[in-house]
Amino acid sequence: MAEECIFCNIVNGKTDTQFLYRDDRVVAFADIHPHAPVHDLIVPFQHIRSVNDLQSLDQELMAHMVMTGRELARQRGVDQSGYKLLFNVEWGGGQRIFHIHMHLLGGWDKEK
Ligand code: AMP
Ligand code: ZN
Repeated sequence: MAEECIFCNIVNGKTDTQFLYRDDRVVAFADIHPHAPVHDLIVPFQHIRSVNDLQSLDQELMAHMVMTGRELARQRGVDQSGYKLLFNVEWGGGQRIFHIHMHLLGGWDKEK
């Protein structure tokens, strides 16, 4: 675990963050400052700094994160209206917490 990493603390249960989903590789929880009606984060237990630091071995984990995001979108009722699965990468890409995570954003416009 990386020291002083808020997401390491969260995934390891050291905060009172409520998980929406948890398995042996990832957890999901609501973003504390939502930018959309539904804004959740999918975070692996493994401390990887950013997409730039992914290795070939991590491909399955990344696929698992996407599939988890898809399932969470279904559970949150935004799968049919549509959603975004987003990685911010490094400071210029909007990343502020340097423990890799994927945003699920949706729920703006359910009509069309
Ligand atoms: P990023 O800008 O991609 O690094 O995203 C980090 C996200 O983590 C932001 O949307 C924050 O609102 C969110 N965040 C920071 N601290 C917490 C926390 N304790 N619980 C839930 N979400 C958090
Ligand atoms: Zn971490």
